[in-house]
Amino acid sequence: MSKSLFSDASERLERAMKYVSISEDALEHLKHPKISLSVSIPVRMDNGSLRIFQGYRVRYDDTRGPGKGGVRYHPNVTLDEVQSLAFWMTFKCAVLNLPFGGAKGGVTVNPKELSKLELERLSRGYIDAIADFIGPDVDIPAPDVYTNPMIMGWMMDQYSIIRRQLTPAVVTGKPITLGGSLGRDTATAMGAFFVMEAMMPKFDLPPQETSVAVQGFGNAGAHIAELLSKASYKVVAVSDSQGGVYCKKGLDIPSIRRFKESQKGIKALYCEDSVCNVVEHEIISNQELLTLDVDVLVPAALENQITEANAKDIKAKIIFEVANGPTTSGADKILEEKGVYVFPDILVNAGGVTVSYFEWVQNRSGLYWTQQEVNQRLKQKMVGETEPIWQLSQELDISMRTAAYVHALNRLGEAISAKGTRDYYLSA
Ligand code: NAD
Repeated sequence: MSKSLFSDASERLERAMKYVSISEDALEHLKHPKISLSVSIPVRMDNGSLRIFQGYRVRYDDTRGPGKGGVRYHPNVTLDEVQSLAFWMTFKCAVLNLPFGGAKGGVTVNPKELSKLELERLSRGYIDAIADFIGPDVDIPAPDVYTNPMIMGWMMDQYSIIRRQLTPAVVTGKPITLGGSLGRDTATAMGAFFVMEAMMPKFDLPPQETSVAVQGFGNAGAHIAELLSKASYKVVAVSDSQGGVYCKKGLDIPSIRRFKESQKGIKALYCEDSVCNVVEHEIISNQELLTLDVDVLVPAALENQITEANAKDIKAKIIFEVANGPTTSGADKILEEKGVYVFPDILVNAGGVTVSYFEWVQNRSGLYWTQQEVNQRLKQKMVGETEPIWQLSQELDISMRTAAYVHALNRLGEAISAKGTRDYYLSA
């Protein structure tokens, strides 16, 4: 049987442990999710029938602040996956020094099979089921795979109805008119781009001579492909769930995006059509995209894409993980032996939660920032935390992933210990 996603995620913690001086209590604390909720969500379907969907919300740790993390709608959502995503959120918020703990939610559903009204009933039903578990000072949901600002708006509205009080700060990633932040839609990609901008000069690879393959063409993937192409990188391949396209001299990313966005109806909500339909390219599979002979690989789709089975075939020299958990811990070892630089998810894709934090701050203060202010603050945060992690990896001769975990563990350890440790009580 394959290893659970959560035990795979925990291996990263084990690897980082030997480089931190953290109390045993704090470590023990971080090996277990604080609280997990599993709910059944009844939804009246358009044809009058009743369907029950399975939903989850996990608050992994809230020592450094309220739980923070997205809600995923996907047929493969399980408690194990949600728990792993909540674990990563805990470390991601600590890496960026955001005053949040880690949480995540999910519903086991193929949202593309639902009508828009069914999707709204499901989203409101999910909030009905978890309303006592969330709140602006407790746990704050946000978008993730196949959830978007419209869904976040419904969720905020439903929570406000239950509380009989408009509560915009309960959810982030909302539409701008309902208290969303400017720049939230592009934040994950923008944050990843700032990390790349800070790190690429270390490899002596000028953008014009750097080929990039991007897996996933959704919110994160399409935006990062566009930002890189605008900055003169040669984006030679992109893909979505239906397959990929490749062109050695570089793809015209804006036209691929326009093509996807021109689809209407439910397609406009999910960009259902495939990038495979765009002309001037070779069709490639998702597996082929991962093993292309490129300088930089950007996985921006789902977890477990680079595994022990294909890691040896990866030809990219540098990987920027925009997706959560795209590389398994077994693949990590193989890539490290091959000398591939992997910039980890908990740093690279943290732009999304950082601007979510900005949105929460704006909602609570009632003072709203310009897009320029948001991007300036985002850049400061992303670059400010990337440099010390790079230094740590060079000084200790460890991977960027382990260095990022060490960086986060130091902060988490300090916060947990500040509440009292065994040593403190024994010496009292
Ligand atoms: P999205 O739903 O907007 O897009 C997902 C994309 O992946 C779609 O283009 C889909 O077609 C594609 N895809 C699905 N299965 C695939 C497969 N097997 N191979 C190739 N492509 C596939 O989701 P998103 O918000 O862009 O999230 C993508 C990743 O980024 C996820 O791992 C998510 O957790 C992570 N992430 C997103 C944010 C955010 O703010 N959106 C923040 C942090 C991390």
